[in-house]
Amino acid sequence: MAKLIQRPKGTQDVIPSTAYKWHTVEHIVSDAAARFGFKEIRTPVFEDTGLYVRSVGDTSDVVTKEMYTVSSKGDATFTLRPEGTAGAVRAMLENGVMNEGFPQKIYYIMACYRHEKPQAGRLREFHQFGIEMFGTQSPYADAEIILLAKSVLDDCGLKNIELNLNSIGCPECRAKYHAALKEYFASKKDELCDTCLERLDKNPMRILDCKSPICSKIAEGAPKILDYLCEDCANHFESLKKILTSYGIEYKINPKIVRGLDYYTRTVFEFVSTDIGAQGTVCGGGRYDGLVSELGGQPTPALGFGMGLERLILTMEKQGCDFIAPKTCDIYLVSMGADAQAKCAALAASLREEGYSAEFDLVGRGLKPQMRYADKIGAKFVCVLGSSELETGNVKIKNMRTGEQTDATLAKFNESFEALYINEVLAIDNDLAGDIASLL
Ligand code: ATP
Ligand code: MG
Repeated sequence: MAKLIQRPKGTQDVIPSTAYKWHTVEHIVSDAAARFGFKEIRTPVFEDTGLYVRSVGDTSDVVTKEMYTVSSKGDATFTLRPEGTAGAVRAMLENGVMNEGFPQKIYYIMACYRHEKPQAGRLREFHQFGIEMFGTQSPYADAEIILLAKSVLDDCGLKNIELNLNSIGCPECRAKYHAALKEYFASKKDELCDTCLERLDKNPMRILDCKSPICSKIAEGAPKILDYLCEDCANHFESLKKILTSYGIEYKINPKIVRGLDYYTRTVFEFVSTDIGAQGTVCGGGRYDGLVSELGGQPTPALGFGMGLERLILTMEKQGCDFIAPKTCDIYLVSMGADAQAKCAALAASLREEGYSAEFDLVGRGLKPQMRYADKIGAKFVCVLGSSELETGNVKIKNMRTGEQTDATLAKFNESFEALYINEVLAIDNDLAGDIASLL
C-alpha cells in the first residue's frame, strides 16, 4: 500500500463525527451577529502582502514572524491572511461599501494562517469569528461589540470568562507614554529578552505583551498608559466603563493589555478563560480609528474583535457545555431483495421531499446487518420491507427508542410516518410539547 500523507503540522481536520461542534458555534455566532445587525462579508484567503505590512504593522509578531508569504509569477507577493480586519477594510473600501452610510457593521467566519509553534489552542490554520464596525466614535459602539462578544460566550454556555479592559489612547497620548516607557525599560536593558531589546527602539509598548516571565515581571513596574491618556481619550474610556456597568457587564482593568496588532487605538479588550491553559484568550478586540485612512480611505473611526473558534470549542468542551445535537436519520428502510430495495428507494425519495432524512441499503447487507447499521447511524424509526410486505401492502414501523411497532400501509406510508414522527418529537422534547400544548 502507498504511504499515507499526513496533514501539515498545526492544522486540524473536522471529521463528520465532530462537525456538529462547528455547526453549533457557527450557528451561535452568526445568530448573535444578526441580532446586533451585522451583515456577513467574505474576502479572499490571500491578499497582497503589503496590505498586512501596512495595517498589522511591521513590528508585530504576525508580520515579522508568522506570515505565510508566497511569491507568484512576476514580482507580486501574496500572504495567506493572518487575520480578518485588514482584508475586510480593503474590501469595504474597494467595493465602496463605506459610502453606503454609517455605521457599517460586518462579520465573518474565516480560516486564518500564522506560522506559530503549534500547541493546544495555537494552530497554524485556525478559524476566527470576527466583526467590524465603521463610522462611529461613540463609546456605545465600543460597549456594543463587547456586549456582542459576551452574548456569544453566554449563548455557548461558557462560565468564568473574564473581560480584561484597557485604553491605549490615541497617537498623541501614546507619544508621551512611549517616551516614559523607553526611559523605564532602558534602565532594565540588561534583563530584557533579545526581542524586547529590539522592541525598545521600535515599539516599546509591545514589551508589555512579552510572554517571557522575566520581561513580564519587569513590565509590572512599568508606567501605566491610563496615566497618560489625553482628556478626550480619558473621557471616552470613562463613558465606556459607565455603559458597561449599566449593562451589568463585569470587567477588570488590565493595563498590560496592548493587543498584538499595531492598528489599535483607545479601547482594547480581551475575554480570557482560565480553563484552557496558556492560550486562554478566546476573544480580543478594540478600536482602530487610524486603520481606514492608513489603508487609503477617508479617516473613519472603526472597531472590532476576533474570536478564535478552536479556543471557543476547546473551552466549551472543558466546561462540558452543550452542543446542538447533529441531525440523524429519521427513518431507515430495511430491504430484503431487489424489489423491496426498489420500493425502499422510492419511499425514501418521497419522504425526503417532505423534509425527512430517509435512508435505505446501498451495499447489499442482510436483514440483521441493516438493523445494526440503522442503530449505529441513530435512525429514529426503522421499517422492514420484504416480499410479503410488498404483496400485502402492510408494514410495521418500529420506534427505535421505545421498541414499539406500529402498523402502517405502503399506500399511506407518509401519513402514518408523519403521525409517528410528531409523537416522537413531542415525547423527547418536553419544551416543544409544552409550547404546542399552550397553543391548543
Ligand atoms: P495570542 O496572544 O494568543 O497569540 P493574538 O493577540 O495573536 O493572540 P489576535 O490576533 O487578536 O490574537 O486574534 C484573535 C483571536 O484569534 C485570539 O484571541 C485567539 O482566540 C485566536 N487566535 C490567534 N492566534 C491563534 C492561533 N495561532 N491558533 C488558534 N487561535 C488563535
Ligand atoms: Mg499571537
